Amino acid sequence: MQRFDYAIVGSGPTGLAAAFELSSRRPDARILLMDKAAVSSGGLRNDCKMNFTFPIGFPVEYWPRELADGYLERVVSFLMPDLMLRKKIGEYRRRAEKIGVELLEIRQSHLGTDGGLRLIARLVDDLRSRGIEIALEETALDIDAAASVLTTDVREIEYGSVLVAPGRNGFDFLRKLMDRIGVPFSDNSIDVGLRIETREERYPIVQDYYDPKFLFPERVRTFCTNSRSAHVVRERYETSGGSHYYSVNGHAWSTDRPANGLVNFAVLRSVEFTEPLASGQDFAEMLGLQAMLVGGGKPIMQRVGDFRLGKRSTRNGFVGDLYDFEPTLKDCTPGDVSMVMPAKFLRSIWKALKQLDTIVPGVLHPSTIMYYPEIKLYANKPRFLDERSFLALPGIHLAGDGAGTSRGITAAWASGLRAADGMLGGEFPS
Ligand SMILES: Cc1cc2nc3c(=O)[nH]c(=O)nc-3n(C[C@H](O)[C@H](O)[C@H](O)COP(=O)(O)OP(=O)(O)OC[C@H]3O[C@@H](n4cnc5c(N)ncnc54)[C@H](O)[C@@H]3O)c2cc1C
Repeated sequence: MQRFDYAIVGSGPTGLAAAFELSSRRPDARILLMDKAAVSSGGLRNDCKMNFTFPIGFPVEYWPRELADGYLERVVSFLMPDLMLRKKIGEYRRRAEKIGVELLEIRQSHLGTDGGLRLIARLVDDLRSRGIEIALEETALDIDAAASVLTTDVREIEYGSVLVAPGRNGFDFLRKLMDRIGVPFSDNSIDVGLRIETREERYPIVQDYYDPKFLFPERVRTFCTNSRSAHVVRERYETSGGSHYYSVNGHAWSTDRPANGLVNFAVLRSVEFTEPLASGQDFAEMLGLQAMLVGGGKPIMQRVGDFRLGKRSTRNGFVGDLYDFEPTLKDCTPGDVSMVMPAKFLRSIWKALKQLDTIVPGVLHPSTIMYYPEIKLYANKPRFLDERSFLALPGIHLAGDGAGTSRGITAAWASGLRAADGMLGGEFPS
């Protein structure tokens, strides 16, 4: 059996950060970084916009501001982002404040999907040159905590300590793993919402602020805005029962690619369930499957003009006259989001959209498309033995989006650093 001092499952930002930190501070150590995909599958390769301001991406229950700011400094000094300038946003902020909405000021960078892929290739090459074993297309299956053995689909590995950072895509894997190895966890919150697509001229704020973060009442917010060369995409999620559903998402290419004049962003509402509902993931799966049922196996899209009239969108009526642009996500069914989205989510999101239309007039043009569902699963919250290093059992650290310690690239990177600090014996920076 092969032995590694440190084994890392998942080559997203959490795993990459940990690998760099471990190899910098223990150059003699044997380190394995494994991913079931050929290229890390999270946000580094999808749009790759990074937010460098607390609390964006940082679940505050794990990240007091001071701690997060300290780690963010380390993230910035490693990634050295090219920060974008925010320009004329004072007017938007004033309009927002008047109606009880907050516009956050965030330090951001944007590489685009092509730029993200180049960054991943550079980081992986750098890790290889440090002697780290990178095992792509290898899937972690199980951990024997007592024997310190990690089983994959190709081998068994003995580890000194292991970091499991499988991202949102590995949410179900992590849940089952925690059940098997006896890590208690809660999974009681989710974000559900719509992805909005419109012409850039109807949401011109993006020319001054790439990913504007509006916070509305009732825990609604804008999230993940993409523009210039922006596309709506769908992600496939397996359910615990063996079926699948799609959640929509968005990305944009870098400025190297031609602009398509469109912008997309999510409007999400967060919900925390209380008794008797135990699992946010189960609830999300039901919503996803219901959308699949009504959409004939695809997500649903509806023009705002149809929604306002209380009628479904149809394939024949989807383009023409006021409906003056084609949807970028083709594999989607014109329909009626109010058939499938729970009223509590829809009411607060529609209210937020009307407020947004007061701040940035035009965003609710009849042609604007609402795609459903956009679902974010973040909150597999393990009960940690040592929260400071995300240690769940002796020798086993769980971190990143899959373990609910992050909700974005920079917080995931910070989570990887925090886990690595613990793996190195708890030498935390002051
Ligand atoms: C489409 C998309 C676009 C996004 N865009 C942005 C953005 O622009 N900006 C931003 O800040 N955030 C974005 N995010 C969120 C961001 O990707 C995450 O916050 C971040 O990547 C989380 O990092 P992570 O390391 O925890 O997980 P991930 O980046 O998801 O990486 C986890 C890795 O683990 C691997 N894995 C899973 N299970 C196993 C297993 N059993 N064995 C081996 N490997 C496994 C996966 O293949 C994956 O590569 C986006 C997410 C998605 C899905």
